[in-house]
Amino acid sequence: MVPKDDWRRTDQEEYLTGVPLKFMARYPKDPLYDHDHCEFCFQEISMYEGATHCGYCTLDEYRWICPACYEDFREEFGWTLEGESPCNTN
Ligand SMILES: [Zn+2]
Repeated sequence: MVPKDDWRRTDQEEYLTGVPLKFMARYPKDPLYDHDHCEFCFQEISMYEGATHCGYCTLDEYRWICPACYEDFREEFGWTLEGESPCNTN
């Protein structure tokens, strides 16, 4: 359980509680958006060097959660995952 005063908390429960997520082994190429940030820790998720290349996102790919925060908050938020695969953060 992540402490209630964890710095990553910014009322995400208002829009991320119980939502279905999908795992993305690679950040998708899109001409309009080339990166996103984790909803919790703001880690960059993209195919750029130094960024996390995979993550979990809402089904519309609008909100992203990095693998570390997914593990930390998954039980509390009750996310359901569509499909499952191991995530290599390198
Ligand atoms: Zn994160």
